Amino acid sequence: MLADYAVRVEQSRGRRYPETPHPYRDDFQRDRDRVVHSRAFRRLEAKTQVFTRRYSDHFRNRLTHTIEVAQIARTIAAQLGLNTDLVEALALVHDIGHPPFGHAGERALDVAMREQGLFFDHNLHALRIVEDFEMRYAAFRGLNLTFEVREGIIKHSHDYSAEEYPELEEYLLDQQPPLEAQLIDLADEIAYNSADLDDGFEAHLLTLPQIRAGVPGFERCFAEVERLYSEAPDKLKFNEALKRFLDRMVSGLVQSTRTRVQRIGSVEEVRRQGERLVTFGPEVDAERRECKEFLYKSLYFSATLEPEKVEAERVISELFAHWVRRPGDLPGGYSEKAKTEPVARVVCDYMAGMTDHYILEQYEKFCGGFRP
Ligand code: MG
Repeated sequence: MLADYAVRVEQSRGRRYPETPHPYRDDFQRDRDRVVHSRAFRRLEAKTQVFTRRYSDHFRNRLTHTIEVAQIARTIAAQLGLNTDLVEALALVHDIGHPPFGHAGERALDVAMREQGLFFDHNLHALRIVEDFEMRYAAFRGLNLTFEVREGIIKHSHDYSAEEYPELEEYLLDQQPPLEAQLIDLADEIAYNSADLDDGFEAHLLTLPQIRAGVPGFERCFAEVERLYSEAPDKLKFNEALKRFLDRMVSGLVQSTRTRVQRIGSVEEVRRQGERLVTFGPEVDAERRECKEFLYKSLYFSATLEPEKVEAERVISELFAHWVRRPGDLPGGYSEKAKTEPVARVVCDYMAGMTDHYILEQYEKFCGGFRP
């Protein structure tokens, strides 16, 4: 049962190229399936989220992170009476534009592009993937996704202004995105906050006392676990507390959003609001912020992860410079494209699509591998 404020597939603004309806899958279900069957989606498996493969096969990569976001987002959407098929499509596609080597890779690619007077943005790149780079259909380039999925790719986590991005005008930049897109950004944050505590603890980069002292929301859950399972090993107490913390964030989001959307009667009304309606309540929001700050300070900027970031930056900046200098070294299709389009943009598109190990192979080939 969809709520009044949910997106209805029958009211979709449709696809760029009209298609015959499928006998038993609606357009949002088909979009979700198209994302799952795309090459860019499969490559997420070999892209770093926070930890590279060198740590452990148990840690998240961008694909398993994406699946966790989809699970959390579906749960929230179902509770709020939102369109779970649209939400699932948006969750599965939300990180498809990320380059290799996690945020270090993203930053390095952006720095390299800015030196050429351009820039890199993973949401804009994701749109280019689904609109142009995926080649699956004889009749058109790209995946021919519905308007609502493309709009969500652009608007789920960032507000782009129409003055700065005239090419995005069709995505109704002066309006809020539907709730289905709004919730992706927060489901993403719930997923990575809890996953990064988990992987950070497992990697011994974060200790239990440190997490308990630095993340009050986690500590609240841990105290409850201590009462129930005082004899259990620390690792299991940690797991129990983390599970409760995740649940607390999800439930907080559902409760607070439910109150805020009570009197909203349509998607158009959601779009007309001055602000986003999907939010955590103040208490859970404070806990979320504390957790995020703790992760920045203690994990993302930790000295242990620093050498890998430096390495990632070097690989990206040297390879980028090499191909910009010698576009003839790019594979056929790209070097052809570089004759008519800005070379830096073509190189950036090529590199952003790469997996961690593929870019390292290319680095070995063109830049002579690692130097101490
Ligand atoms: Mg994400």
